[in-house]
Amino acid sequence: MTQPELLAGRTEAPEPHRVIDPVEAAEALLSFLQQHGPLTLLTGAGISTDSGIPDYRDGAGAWKRKQPVQHLDFMQDPATRQRYWARSLVGWPVMQQAQPNAAHEALTRLQQAGLIGTVITQNVDRLHQRAGTRNVIDLHGRADEVLCMSCGYRCPRVDVHDRCSELNPDFRDFTAATAPDGDADLEADFTRFRVADCPQCAGVLKPDVVYFGDNVPRERVNQARQALENSAGLLVIGSSLMVFSGFRFCRYAEQAGLPIALLNRGRTRADDMATLKLDCAIGPVLGRVAGGI
Ligand SMILES: [Zn+2]
Repeated sequence: MTQPELLAGRTEAPEPHRVIDPVEAAEALLSFLQQHGPLTLLTGAGISTDSGIPDYRDGAGAWKRKQPVQHLDFMQDPATRQRYWARSLVGWPVMQQAQPNAAHEALTRLQQAGLIGTVITQNVDRLHQRAGTRNVIDLHGRADEVLCMSCGYRCPRVDVHDRCSELNPDFRDFTAATAPDGDADLEADFTRFRVADCPQCAGVLKPDVVYFGDNVPRERVNQARQALENSAGLLVIGSSLMVFSGFRFCRYAEQAGLPIALLNRGRTRADDMATLKLDCAIGPVLGRVAGGI
């Protein structure tokens, strides 16, 4: 495609209907769902912040804190793994104890009412499933399970946590601010930390989470894409879509001619692709929508 064609396409794109008042937003979302549902839903960190799991990015889509662990660093650098698992001793219990919030529960009701079909989540906290939502694709994996990168051994993360705690009694009592993937803002001398290896082959254990710099498995992407293309539209909640693995579903929706609605406080990467942009707090809007069906 030539540059003038691209520019022409841009100028012809209709402006999204942008709403900031939560009452008006709930009405607009309900009518969007009733007109196009069952929709495919894509969720991000913004839906879990009310459960005490912090978001990666601020309202402008910028990093709130240091970038999270990179896949290659984790795989290749023993010091990165020492630091990761030491900080996880502090950060993981917060995520483990998190409970679904009113937004998760509202989405379950909307799904039961037939307005939402498949849920694709960028979150690794399993809170949708715990709130009773079905047909959830954990795009970036799940933080509550650990995988051996050599032999495929899998176990609950709490088992690795307990072993690290036994191996490192002097790290147990640290407290620090926690981060979205069970990480924590903890600075200490990590060189003494003893990392738990695979009990079967002594390989590298890694939470079953797609880290930055790694790719979502192709079959998982295909499954999610197929669900989207078999539905009548895409609703994105609580994501700035700055990561391509989520943003690509907006591209797929656009290519398939499906309408896109966004519910997110602050800007997203797909603002100019949306037919409806709801720039407000998630919880109150979803509560109203679920109360109105
Ligand atoms: Zn192994």
